[in-house]
Amino acid sequence: MTDIYGLTYEALEAELVNIGEKSSRAGIIYPAVYGGLADVFDGLPLKGETLARLRENFSFDAPELLDVRTSETADKYLWKLNDGCTVESVLMKHEFGYNVCVSTQVGCNMGCKFCLSGRLRRRRDLTVSEMTGQVVGIAKHSGCRIGGISVMGIGEPMENLANVLGFIGIMTHPKGLAIGIKHITLSTCGIVPKIYELADSAYPVNLAISLHAPDDALRETIMPVAKRYTLAEIMEAARYYSEKLNRRVTLEYVMLDGVNDSDECAERLAELIGGMNAYVNIIRYNSSPESGFKCSPHERIMGFYDVLKKRGVGVTMRRSLGDDISAACGQLSAGTEK
Ligand code: SF4
Repeated sequence: MTDIYGLTYEALEAELVNIGEKSSRAGIIYPAVYGGLADVFDGLPLKGETLARLRENFSFDAPELLDVRTSETADKYLWKLNDGCTVESVLMKHEFGYNVCVSTQVGCNMGCKFCLSGRLRRRRDLTVSEMTGQVVGIAKHSGCRIGGISVMGIGEPMENLANVLGFIGIMTHPKGLAIGIKHITLSTCGIVPKIYELADSAYPVNLAISLHAPDDALRETIMPVAKRYTLAEIMEAARYYSEKLNRRVTLEYVMLDGVNDSDECAERLAELIGGMNAYVNIIRYNSSPESGFKCSPHERIMGFYDVLKKRGVGVTMRRSLGDDISAACGQLSAGTEK
């Protein structure tokens, strides 16, 4: 049996030919699976023998929904995968529409010190189907029309880029959910070679880089990945991305009280950005006793913001959705054990 949620449109066409069906049947099946969110073939306008062949050869292996925690701004979903591992994803209820934040790995090995997800040892990468299943499952459960995707849940997506690209191919296909590529954002802690690979791929989505410090020495104290790639290398890759695609790159900066939030840090950050086509997204940290970090006070955040503004840097402040149900950035921490 082939899991339908793991197939791009083109792969489905090929599979249909393999089982003796016309590839054009994909044009009926895909909109039913993604537009109508059907998880059975019954009711499709196809002959009985074709339907029987589809049932014999394709399965719908969506993750099993274990729990949902809801709040006004976000709902957090806990999924059980086929091997018993669990992951989380979040439905974010923005004023402008509904976005899903998906996980890409079971656990994460990047070990960012301020991130609860980083405390979970990476067990494995998620398959294309397991990522697609999170979005389809949330769309079905919530009844919401999903308008955007944030590839920002548990895991470093660049470490699982081939599957992430397959997933994006499914999400953006016009006969499927048809989510615009500009409504998909992938966040990385700065895996430099993969930034180039994504820029040159068929799906160059919006790029967000978790910077969180204006120099390598400070960055190394909170993000072990800084020992692998310097900020100079990351910024060069970011420049390539923005110039090749004529797109602004987002630089994520989480405000950690007394760690990275001084005016001097803001000045150095402005220097690092120079005239690059990028903006800084300031994120209020969701303080947690386990992490040992606290969010900077409001006045300090505003001071940091003002320095960047005065230096002519584009800067926004992200509204934190879901912190009341531990669904905000860095708070996803589903147990990963079988
Ligand atoms: S911030 Fe992202 S890359 Fe870093 S540990 Fe958390 S999930 Fe992994």
